[in-house]
Amino acid sequence: MTTPAPPAPPTRLTARGIIRRYGGIEAVGGVDLVAPPGRITALIGPNGAGKSTLFDCLAGTVRPDAGRVLLGGRDVTRLAAHRRVRLGLARTFQQIAVFPTLSVADNVRVGAEQQPGRPDPRVVTEQTARALGLFGLQDIAAEPAGAQPTGVLRLVELARALAGRPRVLLLDEPAAGLDATQTARLVTVLRGLAERGMALLLVEHDAELVAELADSVYAMANGKVVASGPTTTVLANPRITQAWGGST
Ligand code: ATP
Repeated sequence: MTTPAPPAPPTRLTARGIIRRYGGIEAVGGVDLVAPPGRITALIGPNGAGKSTLFDCLAGTVRPDAGRVLLGGRDVTRLAAHRRVRLGLARTFQQIAVFPTLSVADNVRVGAEQQPGRPDPRVVTEQTARALGLFGLQDIAAEPAGAQPTGVLRLVELARALAGRPRVLLLDEPAAGLDATQTARLVTVLRGLAERGMALLLVEHDAELVAELADSVYAMANGKVVASGPTTTVLANPRITQAWGGST
């Protein structure tokens, strides 16, 4: 018999005073942000605003020059990305990153194996199956990932991120390349995850999707947060939405 993993405790992701420079450019110039459990938080802003750089600082692929990243009560600023994954911080990428020669199921299994300690293989198999099922990927589980269209690959990447049962999920343009049916499924799944206590933070260019999904919004420009608050309040500010230029 497999023992189900205990429910993960709710965890907040906090950024304090994050600064990251590239040469003379301050890509992120002192950003404070909180992604609370049970909520969907969106990060918006025009191209070059610093969203991806901030995301990379949160995920651990880029080291900030100053500031702190906290996962729950723990300071993870100096931890490598893979160690943050094991502590419950998962991410998806703007440029889809799957292993093309592995099957869809094996790609998802890689995510299920990213857990603290040595995960029980039966639990890994169970969580892989559950994550595949979330996005209706069971029927193509045995097929090579490289043969799948972009929209499906995005769902495979998401399933992989979720298979490790993260407590915080960072999503970089999760709806890019999805058709209307896949987007609707994505919305349902992300809402369900938030309802079960996960903290979600997404970078998204689709204004309608942000309005539909996000509980709160941080708007960035030139490396700074220029507005933050409930989604309806931030998106009601024409200066923010015009500068953002989010697609509708
Ligand atoms: P987009 O919406 O186009 O993805 P963004 O809001 O994510 O934009 P970033 O990609 O974080 O913005 O870029 C912020 C600034 O930092 C830009 O001026 C960019 O040119 C610069 N920058 C980002 N990464 C690097 C890097 N690796 N080397 C040099 N400059 C960089």
